[in-house]
Amino acid sequence: MQTFRIATIPGDGIGKEVVAAGVEVLEAIARRDGRFEMSFDFFDWGSDHYRRSGRMMPDDGLSRIKDHDAILFGAVGAPEVPDHVTLWGLRLAICQSFDQYANVRPTRILPGITSPLRGVAGGELDWVIVRENSEGEYAGQGGRTHRGLPDEIATEVAIFTRSGVERIMRFAFELARSRPRKLLTVVTKSNAQRHGMVLWDEIAAQVAANYPDVTWDKMLVDAMTVRMTLQPQSLDTIVATNLHADILSDLAAALAGSIGIAPTANLNPERKFPSMFEPIHGSAFDITGKGVANPIATFWTASLMLGHLGQGDAAARLMRAVERITRDTAFHTPDLGGRATTRSVTDAVIDAINGEN
Ligand code: ATP
Ligand code: MG
Repeated sequence: MQTFRIATIPGDGIGKEVVAAGVEVLEAIARRDGRFEMSFDFFDWGSDHYRRSGRMMPDDGLSRIKDHDAILFGAVGAPEVPDHVTLWGLRLAICQSFDQYANVRPTRILPGITSPLRGVAGGELDWVIVRENSEGEYAGQGGRTHRGLPDEIATEVAIFTRSGVERIMRFAFELARSRPRKLLTVVTKSNAQRHGMVLWDEIAAQVAANYPDVTWDKMLVDAMTVRMTLQPQSLDTIVATNLHADILSDLAAALAGSIGIAPTANLNPERKFPSMFEPIHGSAFDITGKGVANPIATFWTASLMLGHLGQGDAAARLMRAVERITRDTAFHTPDLGGRATTRSVTDAVIDAINGEN
């Protein structure tokens, strides 16, 4: 029987709580499926590790996880550790070293979940946002001159490479082609940003020529927020830059009901390196230790991971169990307006997995 080796990095805050729940659910799914096994190697990297050693992970950290089949990640960030340390010291180091240039964020309003859009716009949406995850506005280029002086200047330079834009665009067209509606929206801001965003527009048109079966259009990012809110059904697959997709996917998570539901996959599509799967929410220290973190984002994340590992049946089974549970408000955690706990939701999902014939 095939055994998948999962590098498991719970991280900080509620990351530890939701990853523990995710591992239980994955074990239940593997048992129920019976065709594969999962083995979890735990790495206690994150802010505690930083306090002990001055590093978010050990020097040989990347080489210790590079041969795993996938990475399950919780969240990092702690009140007293600077954001650039927690981000660059671990999460972004993994994304960059393993060339996880495609960040994929499915968005749906799950059954029983109240969305700001329900009733307003018909309340249905089924999107996948593809975020360019390796360059663009977050390339870290720029600097400051005349620090602290009245004529100080700070520059923040976005870097877009032809090869970087082409590969994310091809990825997005492929993904759009694989979905029933074959619909792609390319988001830019090329009316105001006249270099990188114009390159995006040009490359989108070039790549589109190879996908005559995909219907595509272009949207400026500002207008896109309006369309997501007022015409959600008009969208399906969406591709945008690192910054734009960062913002749009938080909007998407809110429209889908809660940040506690939204999953994401950081993919190395060529599979030269492991891909990383994580809930989009952060470490949320305001609710850490209270046992009320919503584990649904991590369960959905686990389903994405199973799909990536070629276990489509198990992935679908997990989502059926999740959707059975979200229908019942008794299993809504406080972020969804309910009183359920991480424990009760996890038990209910495992019962649903085991109870399904
Ligand atoms: P980071 O700085 O890493 O983004 P954060 O502390 O800003 O983390 P997030 O986790 O991004 O917080 O989310 C913002 C708020 O949403 C949290 O403070 C928390 O109250 C709520 N939240 C986030 N995730 C969950 C979850 N899984 N279940 C319930 N509430 C959540
Ligand atoms: Mg945050």
